[in-house]
Amino acid sequence: MIDVPASQALFDRAAAIVPGGVNSPVRAFRAVGGTPRFMREGRGPWLTDVDGNRYVDLVCSWGPLIHGHAHPEVIAAIQSAAVKGTSFGTPTAGEVDLAEEIVARTAVEQVRLVNSGTEATMSAIRLARGFTGRTKIVKFAGCYHGHVDALLAAAGSGVATLASAQQGDDAAVPDSPGVTGASAAETIVLPYNDLDAVRAAFAAHPGEIAAIITEAAAGNMGVVAPLPGFNAGLAEVAHADGALLIMDEVMTGFRVSRGGWQGVDPVDADLWTFGKVMGGGLPAAAFGGRREIMSRLSPSGPVYQAGTLSGNPLACAAGLASLRLATDETYATLDATARHIRERAGEELAKAGVPHRVATAGSMFSVFFTDNPVVNYDQARGQDVEAFKAFFHAMLDNGVYLPPSAFEAWFVSTAIDDEAMEIIERALPRAAAAAAAR
Ligand SMILES: *Cc1c(COP(=O)(O)O)cnc(C)c1O
Repeated sequence: MIDVPASQALFDRAAAIVPGGVNSPVRAFRAVGGTPRFMREGRGPWLTDVDGNRYVDLVCSWGPLIHGHAHPEVIAAIQSAAVKGTSFGTPTAGEVDLAEEIVARTAVEQVRLVNSGTEATMSAIRLARGFTGRTKIVKFAGCYHGHVDALLAAAGSGVATLASAQQGDDAAVPDSPGVTGASAAETIVLPYNDLDAVRAAFAAHPGEIAAIITEAAAGNMGVVAPLPGFNAGLAEVAHADGALLIMDEVMTGFRVSRGGWQGVDPVDADLWTFGKVMGGGLPAAAFGGRREIMSRLSPSGPVYQAGTLSGNPLACAAGLASLRLATDETYATLDATARHIRERAGEELAKAGVPHRVATAGSMFSVFFTDNPVVNYDQARGQDVEAFKAFFHAMLDNGVYLPPSAFEAWFVSTAIDDEAMEIIERALPRAAAAAAAR
């Protein structure tokens, strides 16, 4: 591992006053070891850390930055919004523009803007409960929907990463301390991609389930695409019982196509959640769906939801600029870039004799270090995380910034050019060799 004294010094200062030294757990490198890189600047496909090391960024702020860092049009939109004032606590034109753009690209009829994906899923669940008058929620193990109490059961992303780092792979998924038994008790956790389990849950709790929430394509246990017919089956089973289907597109939304996963595999869901890409790198998220349901939201209906900074003018400007830049050509580029990296990674791992599965959902992908197929969280947890660690650090030392966890998606941007691709292609054989030698 290369020395990063400036990052280490900042991490030491941070660790004294911020729990774990970070403001979101997976940034801490707990699952891979070593010093988290404190970044000083992002430009196009590149990140530069405070020690002056440059990396090709395959995290893209965990998904939002489909155009790369500091895209001139996105920055110009933020600047021109900022000089007019940062927040008014009143309606603004930008909110209408962004909401119209979302409605135009998706199946939602009405949309409410919020500040984070967590807020979006939390509010969608409240609305589903308010609309149906029911309490129970079905979620899938390994899916992550933000740090909402009722959704932390068997959650993916950082929860999965920490569980694997602290407990070892074979340990049972721990309860999430601080989440009350009462809120967890209303959550039914089922294996992903298992429609029979969903049918059984509805048979056991007829008329009690308010909604199924699922990632449109799972990206928080590593990438696990829904099996053909899984999402459509969820809609069918939910609707047969009078329950709602909430499609969480916080990660997939506006990343895998103009309209998100629903542009790839349209399903008759009732509510959708968005975040990440729609904020263009600023905090913006949304939930939306059928008018009949959304109109139950305050102030047009009785289900309360609010936010001091919701629809913030800077966030709306960044999000709108980012979405307007995202044309069909953008998605073709993202697909081609992702395909190329995926294939090169697979080739090098195969050459080095490292057991692996390259998993993909649109332009999102990740590598599972296992020979076995992965369609659910148990199978994802069966991978060799030590091999990932060795692979990750070799990529990092060779100038490629991957998500510091075996349970996260890799994200590309349209900014990845020949020079950046060359760095990736040079790093891959070295990382594959490191994984083989671990
Ligand atoms: C990132 C993510 C969230 C949470 O979004 P935050 O903005 O981090 O709160 C929710 N659902 C999915 C599918 C996500 O990927």
